Amino acid sequence: MSGSAPRISFVSLGCPKALVDSERILTHLRAEGYEVARRHDGADVVIVNTCGFLDSAKAESLEAIGSAMAENGKVIVTGCMGAEPEQIRNAFPNVLAITGPQQYESVLDAVHTAVPPAHDPFVDLVPPQGIKLTPRHYAYLKISEGCNNRCTFCIIPKLRGDLVSRPAGDVLREAEKLVKAGVKELLVISQDTSAYGVDLRYAESPWKDRSVRAKFFDLSRELGSLGAWVRLHYVYPYPHVDEVIGLMADRLVLPYLDIPFQHASPSVLRAMRRPAAQEKQLDRIRTWRGICPDLAIRSTFIVGFPGETEEDFEFLLDWLDEAQLDRVGCFKFEPVAGAPANDIALPVPEEVKERRWHRFMQRQQAVSARRLAKRVGRRVPVIIDEANGRVAKGRTQWDAPEIDGTVHLTSRLPMRAGEIVTARIERADAYDLHGTV
Ligand code: SF4
Repeated sequence: MSGSAPRISFVSLGCPKALVDSERILTHLRAEGYEVARRHDGADVVIVNTCGFLDSAKAESLEAIGSAMAENGKVIVTGCMGAEPEQIRNAFPNVLAITGPQQYESVLDAVHTAVPPAHDPFVDLVPPQGIKLTPRHYAYLKISEGCNNRCTFCIIPKLRGDLVSRPAGDVLREAEKLVKAGVKELLVISQDTSAYGVDLRYAESPWKDRSVRAKFFDLSRELGSLGAWVRLHYVYPYPHVDEVIGLMADRLVLPYLDIPFQHASPSVLRAMRRPAAQEKQLDRIRTWRGICPDLAIRSTFIVGFPGETEEDFEFLLDWLDEAQLDRVGCFKFEPVAGAPANDIALPVPEEVKERRWHRFMQRQQAVSARRLAKRVGRRVPVIIDEANGRVAKGRTQWDAPEIDGTVHLTSRLPMRAGEIVTARIERADAYDLHGTV
């Protein structure tokens, strides 16, 4: 539209929460008349939104900054790694500015200094729902920032501070705009979704003709009434989660829970200082499956946490057999600079971590395969993520984008991304399903 509009190239690394930050920054810049460039070399400035959670993520972030410096030379760094600017300055003394996570204003200031905005911003270039970096049919919805927990392996509270929840009315307005713009699936994210509103003392805020409390249950129920799939991520097994499972049984919210359990052995959980009385987690899972038998549970675990004994690890494997989780990710413990876990106990040797990781994956693979096999023969709704005529890849309600499995579909009619079809599941392998529409 405007040939002379300043152009920004953007690299977004890290978790879905960082992606939401990237979307916000881009939305602001588009509102001010900036254009988004596809390549670094044609851009007036490059923004790199970094991830600093693990050493491997830091290395990836530094590599991305390096490429941007080489290809363009005018680079602004933001995101989690920006909380430790020395590392970036040491490697790249000539970056234009470094800002930390959620410092939208500082990023915008740095962009304005590097490349002033065009005089007459095309405010209405921006669709009201903002710029989505995710495919149009699903969107991440961030309901809070920061975290009140102090898990010993994590530096997120140090980087992002204590929990700050958005008022329920704000979240609902954003969600409604997204749904009106064609989003079919809302992925609710935060560091601790079940703690939503604690900092606001569950204050009510206006929404349509009523008030809604900033409470996990109330927000989930209202989101569920917007007509899109609602998927809940990063939920901890607190007792008050039970009532939200009722919304899943009523199909207001997808029968899906993403709970980062991280371990099962009581001594490791204590050393990790995990929230929500996790020693009772098997009971909770039983209760939830009683309320909503169709519930899919996904989780992540850490093996090789400092001080983890063979006994702890065996306990975890037995727990996996009992818990029968649907989808599981597993990470080998990596020390994060500044995390108390690093000095809690002697580190587990790398080769032991590696072996435990393989044993863990093998054990869980058998569980996942059994769980998936139970889906065969059912007719279920599938949301299409990628379509190529009469062949498509999609997901059931039990699978989140990017982290879970896929349904490979064939149909007699062409399919479109974003469409929700009913498919008959014909076959399952270890991770994916196959079916026909
Ligand atoms: S719950 Fe624990 S792991 Fe998650 S962000 Fe908070 S402190 Fe970190």
